[in-house]
Amino acid sequence: VRDGVVIIGAGHAGVQAADSLRERGYAGPVTVVAGESHPPYSRPPVSKQLLDHTVDPAPTPLRAPGFYRERGIELVRTRAERIDRDARLLHLADGRVVRYDHVVLATGARARTLPVPGADLPNVLTLRTVDDALALRPHLVAGARVVVVGGGFVGLEVASAARRQGAEVTLLERGDRLLRRAVSAATADRIVEHHRGTGVRLGFGEEVAGLVERGGRVVAVRTATGDVLPADVVVVGIGGTPEDRLARTARLPTRDGVVVDQWLTTGDPRISAIGDCAVVREPLTGTVTRLESVQNASDQARYVADLLSGATSRPYRALPWFWSDQGDLRLQMVLRTPGHDREVAVGRSVLLFDGGLLTGVESLNDPTTHMAARRLLEHAAPTDTELASADYDVRVLAKRLRRPVQVA
Ligand SMILES: Cc1cc2nc3c(=O)[nH]c(=O)nc-3n(C[C@H](O)[C@H](O)[C@H](O)COP(=O)(O)OP(=O)(O)OC[C@H]3O[C@@H](n4cnc5c(N)ncnc54)[C@H](O)[C@@H]3O)c2cc1C
Repeated sequence: VRDGVVIIGAGHAGVQAADSLRERGYAGPVTVVAGESHPPYSRPPVSKQLLDHTVDPAPTPLRAPGFYRERGIELVRTRAERIDRDARLLHLADGRVVRYDHVVLATGARARTLPVPGADLPNVLTLRTVDDALALRPHLVAGARVVVVGGGFVGLEVASAARRQGAEVTLLERGDRLLRRAVSAATADRIVEHHRGTGVRLGFGEEVAGLVERGGRVVAVRTATGDVLPADVVVVGIGGTPEDRLARTARLPTRDGVVVDQWLTTGDPRISAIGDCAVVREPLTGTVTRLESVQNASDQARYVADLLSGATSRPYRALPWFWSDQGDLRLQMVLRTPGHDREVAVGRSVLLFDGGLLTGVESLNDPTTHMAARRLLEHAAPTDTELASADYDVRVLAKRLRRPVQVA
């Protein structure tokens, strides 16, 4: 292809797409437009290692320094501003214009901010980028009063990191439990227990009503129930807003993210979207799914590279899995389909069933069960009865998978 593939965004999705295109033998030009000032880096350490004072505050690069040059991948350090679909031109913030055969939108998401006055004060911080982590890090010191808003994965990881540095941590969660849409009640309870055990104060049913300012800084958080919590720093972890502005201005369908079909293609056959910015529309039901995980970004990137290099023409399909490190607690989960009607706790894992079939497994510090569950669910969804016969040990069923087929 003469004008090549232009990938917008150099996060997990964008960099993997470029890497996989070359791996599949794609010989045309590959350009990655990287909107951040740091060389492309891994995002999970932003809320983990980068907040730990015993670890060097350096980003974790996604690829070795020579990688892009060696593979003939052009990394352009600027932002993409506008897609001219009629002329097939991409306008960059530095004034350059790039012609394309195909665009891959891999623009990720940005952190949501608190919808109250004072949310822009210097000690009210969100966490998405390396620069965000470098701004937060000095605040997480012994005795500092840290208020974390939001009991999602990022909020919980920050709470752990802050406690480890000796800060006093209060976490406010609007709902009546943690991670309602992400994990089962049984797993959420264990996570609560872990954080309480490390000294994090957890407040449920607590919303931020206002921020108390003095001398240009926030000094306290006022909650909707009337509490006033003194704060040296407020960390807002209330989720991400998909970065779909380029798609919107190019008049492509968006719906809290760039809408794509099962081939991860937008309303324009020359434009795909992958990773955190993409919402996949299910053709029969019309339901849309947007996932925020390294697995999703990487698998969608590999798929689009396959599609563009002619290695596949099938719709996208992948088994979603995820991890989160909260101090010395590692949550790993795999989820074939969302929703379940039965939870079975086995040791440090919880098995999720829907209609008598295993749909997911959540594990806390139980990596062998997690890996077995992934192998198992990659192949099929075993029944409740099959698992009962193995005492609900997914490792037993996963081992059987590797046995040769018995010939009668
Ligand atoms: C703090 C934090 C911790 C996380 N921890 C985990 C974890 O432990 N496990 C896990 O599975 N997932 C984790 N995630 C989620 C995971 O990191 C994301 O799902 C993943 O990074 C998504 O990759 P992406 O490439 O789609 O988007 P991103 O990583 O967001 O990358 C998108 C890039 O595109 C750039 N960009 C946007 N617009 C433009 C433009 N117009 N021009 C040029 N560049 C542009 C952005 O600046 C950004 O660099 C975490 C996320 C965060 C924020």
